[in-house]
Amino acid sequence: MKENSVRNLIIIGSGPAGLTAAIYASRALLEPLVVAGRTPGGQLMITSEVENFPGFPESILGPELMVKMREQATRFGTDFIDDDVTSVDFSRRPFAVTVGEQTYRSRSVIIATGASALWLGIESEKKFMGKGVSGCATCDGAFFRNVPVAVIGGGDSALEEALFLTRYASHVTIVHRRDRLRASPYMQRRAETNEKISFVWNSVVKEITGDKKVDGVILEDVRTGEERRLNVGGVFIAIGHRPNTDIFKGQIPLDEKGYIIVHDGSRTGVEGVFASGDVHDHRYRQAITAAGMGCISALDAQRFLEETESHASAEREEETQKA
Ligand code: NAP
Repeated sequence: MKENSVRNLIIIGSGPAGLTAAIYASRALLEPLVVAGRTPGGQLMITSEVENFPGFPESILGPELMVKMREQATRFGTDFIDDDVTSVDFSRRPFAVTVGEQTYRSRSVIIATGASALWLGIESEKKFMGKGVSGCATCDGAFFRNVPVAVIGGGDSALEEALFLTRYASHVTIVHRRDRLRASPYMQRRAETNEKISFVWNSVVKEITGDKKVDGVILEDVRTGEERRLNVGGVFIAIGHRPNTDIFKGQIPLDEKGYIIVHDGSRTGVEGVFASGDVHDHRYRQAITAAGMGCISALDAQRFLEETESHASAEREEETQKA
């Protein structure tokens, strides 16, 4: 690996956005370096079957899909570092990306660090992860056919998850910690008028119960402290996501929730730095949309490199003529 030379492109993150960017950039002979993180592969690594990624009619396991994407990027000459970026310096070009003791320099950077689902943080939630506890109805909803499920949260995500789950589940109970939803009025109306959805207000999950898989939740009323049991076969946690942008604070414009602001495709507020996937998209959050955006950012980076190179060579020519 070229450690000291200035690279064309560094991609930070190795979910579907980062790896698709790597496939396109390496096929364009940019020899990208992917800083994949200590737990490479992104959110699909904690998903079981992926039934909605085109090209896999029998479905594919999330981790297997990520291994295949990585193999595809490697085949065309992508370098990988399985470690976390510790800091970046986007104040001048070439940009600096530091991983522990080593600093890499690059003419362009694609940020694809994704977002992390927020979890309740209770012990039983961890215990039943993938055994009835999920953070993604689109991914896992079909495994809960004719089973009652609970959705935790009161925002647009929770209502969207609940509405999607009504296709499969026998009933969906939305558990919210307050007596008013945070979600948009339109989503509220859709959920409130859906006969398969009911609400439990002012309640939080104390415990998720079951043996090998989930069979219910113990809820606590936050006003009275009273506990009640709800029999469900699935618990969908939808209390929000957090973009993985801590290391970019002060380096690049972020919105009030910490998502990277992009314009004109995948351009960020710093010329030569691009972003793709859940790190800027809190609306769609799908593997396939992230992969599509990864492609866009690789094409944007390629175009940027071509433009800056032709600009630099025109300047060199002008200087030679002056001399
Ligand atoms: P959000 O708007 O931040 O809502 C999170 C919800 O989870 C809130 O109701 C919050 O309760 C609850 N919550 C947070 N921590 C909790 C905890 N520890 N225990 C129990 N409940 C907890 O997040 P989001 O729903 O993911 O939406 C994020 C952004 O994406 C929003 O801007 C949203 O509009 C947008 N979005 C849009 C769509 C759409 O347009 N179709 C779909 C999804 C998301 P409180 O209300 O009490 O704070």
